Amino acid sequence: MHDPVSYGRIHGSCHCGNIRVTFDRPDSGPAIPARACGCGLCTKHRAAWTSHPDGRFYLRIADESRVTQYRFGTKTADFHVCLTCGAIPIVICTIVGVRYAVFNVNTFDDIDRSELVETAMNFEGETTENRLARRRRNWTPEAVRSEGGDWLQKNVRLGRWVVYAIHVVAIIFASPWQVHPRASFEYFPEG
Ligand SMILES: [Zn+2]
Repeated sequence: MHDPVSYGRIHGSCHCGNIRVTFDRPDSGPAIPARACGCGLCTKHRAAWTSHPDGRFYLRIADESRVTQYRFGTKTADFHVCLTCGAIPIVICTIVGVRYAVFNVNTFDDIDRSELVETAMNFEGETTENRLARRRRNWTPEAVRSEGGDWLQKNVRLGRWVVYAIHVVAIIFASPWQVHPRASFEYFPEG
């Protein structure tokens, strides 16, 4: 789309470290826009969110059983709440199989907090359709590969070749197996 993009990498995590988020954000100056959402949950948590549609994110959860995916309202977004420490580093919305996320700036570990530019927002009353369209426009899609995913990528490619080879072998061997019973019938007719 653009010339090679350089990313600024931000790490976020819950307090106990069970949920870890990496957010690669296209370099667009030091200011990090944060939206202080006015919904009941975000108000109670004092959560403020950032995202970038040209960025990407990686999510690592050490213990899935210690994370709840809390849904409310339109039930279209999963607030990842750590059951051990209570922090909510990330919200994920899945749209046509792709996971999009926003990140809680208050769970970022390696930013200068003076870079945060907070704006109050309220999305109450938005239709579900408009909400999903907005998230698709503004939220950050998940990275295609996981961190250190070269191994996985290579093995997926190898796996495709194995499946292809099995198909070729099956096609070669399938025809004689089908012809054989008919052929034997012709050679040994009854009576
Ligand atoms: Zn935690």
